[in-house]
Amino acid sequence: MRAVVYEAVGAVPTVTEVPDPTCPDDGVVLDVAATGVCRSDWHAWRGHEQVALPHIPGHELAGTVREVGSAVSKWRVGDRVTVPFVLGCGTCEPCQAGDAQVCPNQEQPGFSLPGSFAERVALPRADANLVRLPDGLSFVAAASLGCRFATAYRAVVTHGAVRPGQWVAVHGCGGVGLSAVMVAKALGARVVAVDISTAALDAARDLGADAVVVADETTKVARAVRDLTDGGAHVSLDALGRAAVASAAIAGLRPRGRHVQVGLLHGDESRAAVSMRLVVARELAILGSHGMPAVDYPAMLELVTSGALDPERLVTRRIGLDDAGAALAEMDGPTPPGIAVIEL
Ligand SMILES: [Zn+2]
Ligand SMILES: [Zn+2]
Repeated sequence: MRAVVYEAVGAVPTVTEVPDPTCPDDGVVLDVAATGVCRSDWHAWRGHEQVALPHIPGHELAGTVREVGSAVSKWRVGDRVTVPFVLGCGTCEPCQAGDAQVCPNQEQPGFSLPGSFAERVALPRADANLVRLPDGLSFVAAASLGCRFATAYRAVVTHGAVRPGQWVAVHGCGGVGLSAVMVAKALGARVVAVDISTAALDAARDLGADAVVVADETTKVARAVRDLTDGGAHVSLDALGRAAVASAAIAGLRPRGRHVQVGLLHGDESRAAVSMRLVVARELAILGSHGMPAVDYPAMLELVTSGALDPERLVTRRIGLDDAGAALAEMDGPTPPGIAVIEL
């Protein structure tokens, strides 16, 4: 099969002929129909996360079941599916409690396993993790749900517990941030979007953001958010993953506010100083968000089917497998707003 492969950290990913994946007993092989290009793929390619080399990236995928392992009971050839980027083991305590996204024995296609920038991908643990697609949902829309949209949904709905009329500050308006703007607006919240890019903020406004803050060097972001929201946001998200962004987000919260850390921080950034003085004085909650388990997908898919959420609006570029390497490399610099999806 054809797959996008890189041989070394930072080496240009190229489309290569590789052996077809073998079907795990407890899993399936999928014909990949669409797969998103996510900043997490870029982080792994740049060596910020360990992957075995050579490596096939890709973890936001949708497709059709092509082969089914002997121990799988719920899935048949021809089923249209997507999958969370975290494959829980299905048997440990967090998995049993419905929290597969923090399974200590997790596997991740595109990180611990070969990913979906390929004609086919093997997915173990199918019964515990695959998600059936509603008939009307396109593969491209489904692929965009895989990581960024689902993560944003869970950050706003589950962790943020956002209620109508509350202020949500979304710091960083890339794929995950714009998804969060859409979800927060669907819940009836008011949204202030923050980014360094005016193009990203325009995209946020198009999705319903009530106010925007340009995070240039002169802007005191936390002050601007508190002014716009009459005393601070009820919920803030760092959808980018930077120490400075996380601290500004936390400082822009009102008393009893909730900060949800969505963006990944790497190296020294991950030891970012959180102002514990503020956390205590304002009784803030700081929550981490790591994807979304398969069991939480049906509620989100219902909102997509009803039209309350339209993830396909976030897809601004559709590319082929041959363009995937370049799309990954582009993330070295600022990228256009919205999500790029590879169609096969
Ligand atoms: Zn588990
Ligand atoms: Zn991702």
